[in-house]
Amino acid sequence: MAYDADNIFAKILRDEIPSTRVYEDDEFIAFRDIAPSAPTHIIVIPRLRDGVAPTGPAGLADEDAAMVGRLVLTATRIAEEQGLASEGYRLVMNSGEAAGQTVFHLHLHILGGGRLGPVA
Ligand code: AMP
Repeated sequence: MAYDADNIFAKILRDEIPSTRVYEDDEFIAFRDIAPSAPTHIIVIPRLRDGVAPTGPAGLADEDAAMVGRLVLTATRIAEEQGLASEGYRLVMNSGEAAGQTVFHLHLHILGGGRLGPVA
């Protein structure tokens, strides 16, 4: 699947649509999910590189391994900053429409702030 530079997260990155950012650095931004599935629901995404990002887990290549590692570490730091770590939280990455992926720009969900239900 080709990357669509007009997807919602690309527009959030370009500030073409508003978001509530909770974190940003040179490589990633994080913002609150517009339709939270938990008391705290944050999305972490990589910034565009050469105008593109991986479309999701299925779009990853070997060369993305270090970036994905940093994505997970960044999410754990955000969870700590948001006060989720002591109680526990969930990191979720959907791949494909059957799994519920609706935005085809790689992203990690951070879900926490209360007791979560079963994974599926
Ligand atoms: P996924 O279903 O894994 O593709 O996750 C996409 C997530 O993006 C969903 O949880 C949506 O609620 C969220 N979302 C969609 N549009 C926005 C938006 N404008 N701002 C924040 N989150 C959004």
